[in-house]
Amino acid sequence: MKKIFKLMMLVVLSVVFSISLFAKDVVYVGTNAEFAPFEYLEKNQVVGFDIDLLNAISKETGIEFKVKDMAFDGLLPALQTKKVDMVIAGMTATPERKKAVVFSKPYFKAKQVVITKGVDKSLKSFNDLSTKKVGVMLGFTGDTVVSAIKGVKVERFNAAYAAIMALAQNKIDAVVLDSEPAKKYTANSKQFSIANIPAAEEDYAIAFRKNDTALVQKINSALDKIKANGEYDKILKKYFK
Ligand code: GLN
Repeated sequence: MKKIFKLMMLVVLSVVFSISLFAKDVVYVGTNAEFAPFEYLEKNQVVGFDIDLLNAISKETGIEFKVKDMAFDGLLPALQTKKVDMVIAGMTATPERKKAVVFSKPYFKAKQVVITKGVDKSLKSFNDLSTKKVGVMLGFTGDTVVSAIKGVKVERFNAAYAAIMALAQNKIDAVVLDSEPAKKYTANSKQFSIANIPAAEEDYAIAFRKNDTALVQKINSALDKIKANGEYDKILKKYFK
């Protein structure tokens, strides 16, 4: 009887052991799939540059990522309240956000651009927006940049397409948005143009809770490897040719 019990324990233990050996760490990742080409919906699936980057990191680390799609301004609160463990959302590592969260190494350089209906030759700098009604997305870096301009009228939207719609309907004079999504949102219509005015460079990075040092280190070293082995360049080429 004792022998059978021992044998059974051995079987149970080895099953538990092999499951834990093959079970992947699961890490929940928050994003906002309204920011093509970084994250957007295709047949109800979240896809894009950031998701490909996650998959490449998953291959390096063995971590299984589960992506949760939510409103952009809910992402950092979801991170703080542990609804997710990381945020990847074309998110700029700003000094303000760094007070609350910690960022990975930067993985993409971006800047804010001004979208107008037709060409507006009066626009030479962001300050020239001071007499205009400008659409921004609530809580985006574009919101911060435009809100700092004296005299400007800021209209805040929850999604980029809503701001572009308002511009098409002449309800606002311009939209300020990150460069790559701006190209995507205006690609199918000749009525818009993107004003090429100087803007500060921004770094996109992955956000974590401040005390999650082990996870940050894992992701950072995976980012290094992906950049060294050509995987990162493959993803760049896929989205930006
Ligand atoms: N880069 C901008 C920011 O961090 C916009 C990001 C986004 O909309 N996903 O605010």
